[in-house]
Amino acid sequence: MDEFGMGSSCENSAFFPTRNPWDPDRVPGGSSGGSAAAVAADMGLFSLGEDTGGSIRMPASFCGVTGLKPTYGRVSRFGLIALVSSFDSIGPLTHDVWDAGLVLNVIAGHDPRDSTSVDVPVPDYGHAISRERLDGVRLGIPAEYFAEGMDPGVEKAVVTAIAHLQALGAQVEEVSLPHTDYAISIYYLILTAEASSNLARFDGIRFGLSEPPEGSDIIQRYLRTRGEGFGPEVKRRIMLGTFALSAGYYDAYYLRAQRVRTLLRQDFARAFEKVDALIAPVSPTPAFRLGEKVDDPLKMYLSDIHVVAANPGGVCSLAVPCGFVEGLPVGMQIIGPALDEARVLTIGAAYQATTHWHTYRPANSLQSPGGYE
Ligand code: GLN
Repeated sequence: MDEFGMGSSCENSAFFPTRNPWDPDRVPGGSSGGSAAAVAADMGLFSLGEDTGGSIRMPASFCGVTGLKPTYGRVSRFGLIALVSSFDSIGPLTHDVWDAGLVLNVIAGHDPRDSTSVDVPVPDYGHAISRERLDGVRLGIPAEYFAEGMDPGVEKAVVTAIAHLQALGAQVEEVSLPHTDYAISIYYLILTAEASSNLARFDGIRFGLSEPPEGSDIIQRYLRTRGEGFGPEVKRRIMLGTFALSAGYYDAYYLRAQRVRTLLRQDFARAFEKVDALIAPVSPTPAFRLGEKVDDPLKMYLSDIHVVAANPGGVCSLAVPCGFVEGLPVGMQIIGPALDEARVLTIGAAYQATTHWHTYRPANSLQSPGGYE
């Protein structure tokens, strides 16, 4: 994974980058890229990922597996190292939606050790997802998610998947999420601010690495520990976040970003007055090459353009494989209202019951029934 969940490619790992089983010259996505690559290569039946701004869905899409970002609070965060305390969600990465439902059955539910885990009944996701038709289901296509700059192959795969959902009986209409343009800015602002605060505890005294100072100066101990213990991307974000929270800038940056977050939530709420779920691409491109974006943080941040809004937006989202571009998997998001994981799993089940994209394995997977040509 990317260190502290910060990244979209696994190249910010403190150890070494994970490679994409479909093409070892390409990234598996991030930050939970190892979790997705392991399932894609059949090293395990399922894995868990952590999604603060796409880290389950984006690797799922790049590696051709199914990934569910449950609603914030649906799964306990106990034991998780906090990145953005109000966005972080744990969820399953699996080959198909049925396995995702089974894993969610086990991990969902109230946990007194996480004060924000919600105390509401957990449906049986195993039963919720036996469905093959979508008659009466209304699906919204957010116009803002099909903007310029999208890979034509990705667009074609998602548009074909939408037509398939329609053929299963769903009614499809265009909707608007007008504040989508602000999602990346507010996400990275809130993320850097909260991460800088959350990571303050890694000071060499209470948590994490502890480098002895030369002499007994505690400041020297902090400086050495934090200087050596964090990778470059983590340091960049701590510095950006500390700046955004500093006196005189708090109102202009953090407070403002929180206000725009409310607008994003309202966008989703309005859309869900009209439709049951939203369909969108996971990423504007398939997996990119290792090294392609690592020197340009802004370019890397922009690869999250379709996934980050769900977290500040407070919704749940399922990523399912929906095609290939030049041998690389493409993913589609099924976004649902807060706490309605059963709904997105049901739509995903109807899709996977009648398509085969989730059944392909990369040629070098451990139990390869043959790669996709
Ligand atoms: N790409 C996002 C980031 O770098 C992913 C974060 C996450 O979901 N953990 O912040």
